[in-house]
Amino acid sequence: MSLRTRYITFACSIAVIAALLLGGYNFYWVNRLTQEQAFDRLSDDARAVATQVESRYNRLRNDATAISQTPPFLGMIRSMENAGVDPLDGSTTALWRERLQTIFKAIMRRRPEYVQMRYIEVADKGMELVRVDNRDGVILSIPGKDLQQKQNAPYVVSGILLSPYGVHFSNIDQNVEHGVPDPNLYVLRVVTQVRDPQGALFGLMVISTDFEAEIDSVLRAVDSPYAIYVVDDSGNYIERYPDGTITRIVAPYDSEYALPARFSGSDTNTGEFNHPSLGQVLYSRADVGFDVSSPHRRISIFIAAPKAEGLAGAQEIQKVALGLSLVLVLVTAGGAFAVARRMTMPMKVAVERIEDYATGVTSLDLPTHRKDEIGDLSRAFTSLVDSLEEARSEERAILARLEAIADNTVEGLITTDELGTILSFNRGAETMFGYTQSEAVGKPVDILMSTEYAERHDESLARYKLTGESEVLGKALEREGMRKDGTEFPIELTISEVRVNGMRIFSGIARDISERKLVEQQLIATSEALQKSNNDLEEFAYIASHDLKEPIRAISNHAQFLGEDHGDALGDDGMKRLDRIRDLCAKSERLVSDLLYFSRIGRGDDDAQSIDPSKTIDAIKSALVDYLAERKATIDVVTDLPLLAGDPSRIKSVFQNLIVNGVKYNDRDEKRIEIGYEEPVGDEPGKFYVKDNGIGIPDEFQERVFTIFKRLHNDRAYGPGSGAGLSFVRKIVERHGGKITVESREGEGSKFIFSLTEAMRSPES
Ligand code: ADP
Repeated sequence: MSLRTRYITFACSIAVIAALLLGGYNFYWVNRLTQEQAFDRLSDDARAVATQVESRYNRLRNDATAISQTPPFLGMIRSMENAGVDPLDGSTTALWRERLQTIFKAIMRRRPEYVQMRYIEVADKGMELVRVDNRDGVILSIPGKDLQQKQNAPYVVSGILLSPYGVHFSNIDQNVEHGVPDPNLYVLRVVTQVRDPQGALFGLMVISTDFEAEIDSVLRAVDSPYAIYVVDDSGNYIERYPDGTITRIVAPYDSEYALPARFSGSDTNTGEFNHPSLGQVLYSRADVGFDVSSPHRRISIFIAAPKAEGLAGAQEIQKVALGLSLVLVLVTAGGAFAVARRMTMPMKVAVERIEDYATGVTSLDLPTHRKDEIGDLSRAFTSLVDSLEEARSEERAILARLEAIADNTVEGLITTDELGTILSFNRGAETMFGYTQSEAVGKPVDILMSTEYAERHDESLARYKLTGESEVLGKALEREGMRKDGTEFPIELTISEVRVNGMRIFSGIARDISERKLVEQQLIATSEALQKSNNDLEEFAYIASHDLKEPIRAISNHAQFLGEDHGDALGDDGMKRLDRIRDLCAKSERLVSDLLYFSRIGRGDDDAQSIDPSKTIDAIKSALVDYLAERKATIDVVTDLPLLAGDPSRIKSVFQNLIVNGVKYNDRDEKRIEIGYEEPVGDEPGKFYVKDNGIGIPDEFQERVFTIFKRLHNDRAYGPGSGAGLSFVRKIVERHGGKITVESREGEGSKFIFSLTEAMRSPES
């Protein structure tokens, strides 16, 4: 759900809740007030009925009090106490009795509900003195023989206990005659005391009234559409139905007893219950207390009205209120909706514009002029987008440059995914392999290699993925590439691994090395040819020098023989020339020997042996001990010398030649030769050197001294020599895989520096 929808929903919900709360509150109060009103009405009705009932009790009380004051009561006392004759006027007891019966009868004619009126003597076990009954409308005096003793009746007991002039109302119960209760007649008895002139209690006056008839006449007069219950404190009740029907008295032990439980003994004045015929009803109660000394003795009147009817007014009001609430809900919700919509509209517009911008429909146009939060947001967003676009255009420029570089480079740039599927293929690769980019992308990289290499490539890729070890990554490998037309060509391939967004990508740079290979092959061929011609030359030199020796020696011999045999004929000059011929022959022979030695260096595949050069030098020193002493020359080994491998006699010849030259071409009184070793530096191998303090070699001759038979001096200057020594040295050093150079300044000495690297590992002879 969008923020906007939520906001609108929230505003509407608040409005609806407020309206509903208001409506609910209104509903509750209308209900409550109406119910209170209904209770008030019911309570008025109940009170009216109660007043009627009360007036019945008052009438009974008044009747009892008034009648018990009439003369016959005292007259009877006087006559009975005076042997049956009233001393005041001479009336007999019978006469007084008759007079009282007349009064009783008169009263009972006026009060049809009264069923019995009696005068009871307390002293004679509650004996009835006078009694008049109303039996179904027939009023008759009960003759003396039918009168009964009532001393055990509860109302008699209660009457005796009364205070003077007090009145007692009995409970309502069935009338009892000769000990037999009559279920059809429920009576209420009212009792007053009769006292003699001295104030002593003589008897009781009792009126029994038909309770049902009393209540019936009260209820009949009530004009009410509701149910009315008249309940005494024992739970007996009479009900008047809404239709006016009035029940007989129903006692708690009757089978049809149906008084709501809450009525009997209840002290609540209002409430509701479920009436069998009216449904849910509201009721109100009014009590009639008739006994001041026992307030709990009372008659209660309940009036119950259907609840719906009681609340009828309220429902009318509620209908209107509901309507109003509904209108309120609609108006507030509508208002809230409209306001919220209006307020959030700019937000929606901004979002739409951003979406349009994102899909590339329009350029970004946000309400940056606004002063509110949407304005703030728009400004922030716009500046963010601006800087992003700037960065993006820079990025695009860089990318374009990179692409141009990649495309224009002659090398083939190929990237693949982990499975070896081609992802990119630059122009260099297109020219090299003959596939267009669209043909190559998506294909396995194997199409660019010969089958054999493709298999190897797949294997090593699989191994790399499994173990993380690779013999191909980051190295320049020579492989056989395959063009689209199936032709194979050599390539140099460098593969590296790149991680892009968590994806492993392999990028390969392929270089077509066909030409280099061609040149390499040519070079090999040339060097082989060179080697062959060198060998041929050496062969020739060897054969020539070997074969030359014989004729030279023969010439020398013949010259000697010529001198010996024909010396005289030749004369001094001839002999000198012959000697010269012999010298030249000797020199030629030496040259030829040197040439032979030179051509032999490197022949015969000498076995490489481990050589300790210090020992070699010691051997040279002791062989030359006299020679060195004569010339005041010293030889010092100034550093440790490493062991080396090679041909011992040749290595010895290197050191010896250099040492002898250092002494020979030296005009110092004390000739000093230093031999040392310089440790390897970087790619440079370790180097030996032989350094002297002799005459030095001019710059222009420093290379030429290594040429065979090249001498810088004649024999007279520094002694004889053939000029081959340094050429032997260079050839031996080179045959042992090394190089020799000389550093020298005229008059300051020379330093011959040479490496024997190959010799130190495994000499190739
Ligand atoms: P040779 O000693 O028989 O002349 P080399 O080949 O040994 O032949 O030397 C060639 C020439 O190089 C020598 O004649 C000499 O002029 C020069 N030469 C060689 N060694 C030295 C040195 N240590 N100092 C100066 N000159 C030298």
